[in-house]
Amino acid sequence: MSNLAIDYDDVVAAHRRLAGVAHHTPVLRSTTADERSGASLHFKAEHLQRIGAFKFRGGYNAISQFDRDQKAAGVIAFSSGNHAQAIALSARLHGIRAVIVMPEDAPAIKIAATRGYGAEVVLYDRYTQDREALGRELAEAEGLTLIPPFNHPHVMAGQGTAAKELFDDVGELDTLIVPLGGGGLLSGCATVARARYPSCRIIGVEPEAGNDAQRSLASGEIVSIATPRTIADGAQTQALGSLTLPVLQQCVDEIVTVTDAELVDTMGFLAGRMKQFVEPTGCLAAAAALSGRVAVEGLRVGVILSGGNVDLNRFAELTRDAQS
Ligand SMILES: *Cc1c(COP(=O)(O)O)cnc(C)c1O
Repeated sequence: MSNLAIDYDDVVAAHRRLAGVAHHTPVLRSTTADERSGASLHFKAEHLQRIGAFKFRGGYNAISQFDRDQKAAGVIAFSSGNHAQAIALSARLHGIRAVIVMPEDAPAIKIAATRGYGAEVVLYDRYTQDREALGRELAEAEGLTLIPPFNHPHVMAGQGTAAKELFDDVGELDTLIVPLGGGGLLSGCATVARARYPSCRIIGVEPEAGNDAQRSLASGEIVSIATPRTIADGAQTQALGSLTLPVLQQCVDEIVTVTDAELVDTMGFLAGRMKQFVEPTGCLAAAAALSGRVAVEGLRVGVILSGGNVDLNRFAELTRDAQS
């Protein structure tokens, strides 16, 4: 396993760094969900994590390993989503500077939330400016350390702590189902499952509109796609990372996809039946379990609910017609 970016010990170390800082989120059960799927579903509630998503785990784990010089200069990230808030809050908790680069047409509520955690937000025009070049310039000029949203060992190990807690709480599972964008969460969770329960089936779920991971695993190399059109905005990644792909190749059994309609149906179900407010991307794994995309009947199954950051009006608009 030494060729991989992380191993189980890295996740255990990350979990120690996060103790008393990240929430140990609950595992939710629902008789209705079990009846509907024919399985025993154990939902890991990362929509109840700090900043409303698991990304706090990876961001905090990465920043807590900065050396003195890195801490003195600060951190930079490119993101308009949950990674931005994860880095902003983690930096504040460490008392260091955070610069977040976001497109100027990012939702005002997300810009405000990121500033609310004390980060400096630098806006760019996504049509005329090169984000990477802008970020590199800023990072170099001011000595900032870039933390990417998934392709980094400390981020991957941090995200894996969600699965570690789940197994610590419920013991062995037959199947673990995990949302998938760039593969940070899945690589961390798969590392834990493989190490602790070698026969546990590990499944990643991505939006049908953007099945780059499915294609990458089938072809054995990273397949890049245009930004997919899906309501799962946290999984609109164009490609897996050079560090996440090998972990998925070695540890993951299968990648499945779900449609936006299945995500909306699941948002309505989780809200109506389980009283849980989960964002579209956060529903990927639950949608696969509830829609029959993964064979779960008769099995003990872990399902990661990965985040809950969706505007209330948007949530109402999407779920208005969903049955629950
Ligand atoms: C980022 C994100 C994902 C995807 O995570 P990756 O590590 O990129 O695979 C899934 N759900 C939510 C809510 C996210 O914010």
